[in-house]
Amino acid sequence: MEKPRTRFAPSPTGFMHIGNLRSAIFGYLLVKHDGGDFLLRIEDTDQTRKVEGAVEFIYNTCKLCGLEFDEGPLNGGPYGPYTQSERLDIYKKYAHELVEKGEAYYCFCTEERLDKLRKLAEDNKMAFMYDGHCKRLSKEEVEAKLKAGVPYVIRQKMPKEGTSTYEDLVYGKITVENRILEDQILLKSDGYPTYNFANVIDDHLMHITHVARGNEYVMSTPKYNLLYDAFGWERPIYVHLPMVLGADGQKLSKRNGDASFMDLYHDGYLPEAIVNYLALLGWSPENNEEIFTLEELVKVFDPKRISKSPATYDVKKLNWVNAHYMKKLDIDALYKITYPHLKEAYDLSNKSDEWIKELIRIYQNHISYGKEIVDVTDLFFKEHIEITGECKEFMEQEGVTNTIQVFEHEMEAITDWTIENINQAIMNTKEKANVKGKMLYMPIRIQITGQMHGPELPDTIHLLGKETVLARLQKKA
Ligand code: GLU
Repeated sequence: MEKPRTRFAPSPTGFMHIGNLRSAIFGYLLVKHDGGDFLLRIEDTDQTRKVEGAVEFIYNTCKLCGLEFDEGPLNGGPYGPYTQSERLDIYKKYAHELVEKGEAYYCFCTEERLDKLRKLAEDNKMAFMYDGHCKRLSKEEVEAKLKAGVPYVIRQKMPKEGTSTYEDLVYGKITVENRILEDQILLKSDGYPTYNFANVIDDHLMHITHVARGNEYVMSTPKYNLLYDAFGWERPIYVHLPMVLGADGQKLSKRNGDASFMDLYHDGYLPEAIVNYLALLGWSPENNEEIFTLEELVKVFDPKRISKSPATYDVKKLNWVNAHYMKKLDIDALYKITYPHLKEAYDLSNKSDEWIKELIRIYQNHISYGKEIVDVTDLFFKEHIEITGECKEFMEQEGVTNTIQVFEHEMEAITDWTIENINQAIMNTKEKANVKGKMLYMPIRIQITGQMHGPELPDTIHLLGKETVLARLQKKA
């Protein structure tokens, strides 16, 4: 079997959105499953969208995710350059070769003429399609215009009859009527290729065997195949990926929850969890397992199990996956992704490193991502806690005031502030107030934290410190 090769082909816009990264992951898994090569190609033919440093950014993002490129603009390779703006001569050469073969033609139509055609189509409620005007120019007319320096584009000559068919690994057989295929522009008047042209030339020259990309290209792929055929090149295998929708059922965008990888990373999500979650966006393994390392994904990935239906980006599920990975972190790793958020939110100047680490440790199983530490620990940083709603109702029950008073005495009596002694104080309260279970723990927890749930009570009390605990116990509702 030929060694599989695929490419991740982003535009260098400076962001790596969830949908983008998902495409990269699927491409990576697809080829690595069979020991193939994963390439990076920068599609920067739209120079207006170019952002400085974007290539390094893409490398960094992918590296954090464990996706290393075998070839690409920064690490090179045998089929470079891997940046489209550095390949303009190549596209030019092939576009002219197609003209010579009679598979493409010069088009000198002005913007005014095209605008008129567009307007006409709009008035007739039809989709605009170039009318093939310049295809009918004689050889002499073309030569005269070229000589006179009239600006031109090169268009692909589409068959007007019959159908075109290809087999997509995900969507199966795709057939289109050739008459709906527009004579699309291959080379623009500024000498830049369109995506429609460059992707074919590059995929061929870079020996790409598998094209994994978003399914917005499913219907234009027949046009690309006609280009492969015109050159006499072998077509690649297509793996079009289902769309990713936001929670509102619309295409994922900034508005309905799309985040860039770096946003998530900076909020304290773990790259391995993000990769794990994204691999499940439109793909599922044979069994219903959901937690996979990248290596495990490489092993079990089967493109036949990519779904045709759109996937929904669900932050709750991402949080669930991330929480799973968070639970396994050692204290130093946990500290690294939570501490910066604590530091930003609270004044930690009078807290020891030991205290901060202990705080982070007791919340390890209570947070889904790093930044969440801020919300759940605010009771440690504010002077007054409020007891509201459900908690307040609970505190109105008979016996609660007594339990609090007994516990307060027990707290006052402690001279050595240790978790063991705090535990003992709770046990003493159980005896003296004659309460147990929920009626023992809940009043204390609510009075001290304002919440019904949280980490182990003795740990929490210990970290709050005697002074704060006593002040809160003495505060009447
Ligand atoms: N530059 C294209 C995009 O970002 C790549 C599509 C492809 O992988 O061919 O949509």
